[in-house]
Amino acid sequence: MYNAMNGSAHPLAAKEMQIEAVPGDERVWVPQADNVWFRPLLLNTVQGQWCNLLRVRRAGILSRHLHPAPVHGYVIKGRWKYLEHDWVAETGSYVFEPPGEIHTLTVPDDVPEMITFFNISGCMIYLDADNRQTGLEDVFTKIDMCRRHYDAVGLGADYVDQFIR
Ligand code: FE
Repeated sequence: MYNAMNGSAHPLAAKEMQIEAVPGDERVWVPQADNVWFRPLLLNTVQGQWCNLLRVRRAGILSRHLHPAPVHGYVIKGRWKYLEHDWVAETGSYVFEPPGEIHTLTVPDDVPEMITFFNISGCMIYLDADNRQTGLEDVFTKIDMCRRHYDAVGLGADYVDQFIR
């Protein structure tokens, strides 16, 4: 009951968070593919959702994939485009990826680095050119990737725990 509380949050409420989104410590970035990294912000195991920063450097590609649930993005640095669309996501752009959309993220040759905030629900279903599934990522596989990476770089596997709710 809120009226019986001494603190500022209900006892059942998840713990709040305030962190430096673009950290000075390079080890926080988890390698995803050649020239592609993600930096976890919120790993939401209750709703099957996560927020992260995606960083792609020149020539990096985020493989063709589908989301069964909505994705929201905000471009912090650089610019990028989907091979499947004509538009370019510029610095400051908001991007909405509707459920069912299939796309492949690339960075133009003249962009050394892009960083975009993404709020992703559900999962990423990776597809080949014939739309056959080749892989899947969800909040749990993301947590597993973070654990392995943070253990390997000396931050400790439990470094990821601060981002999990
Ligand atoms: Fe996507």
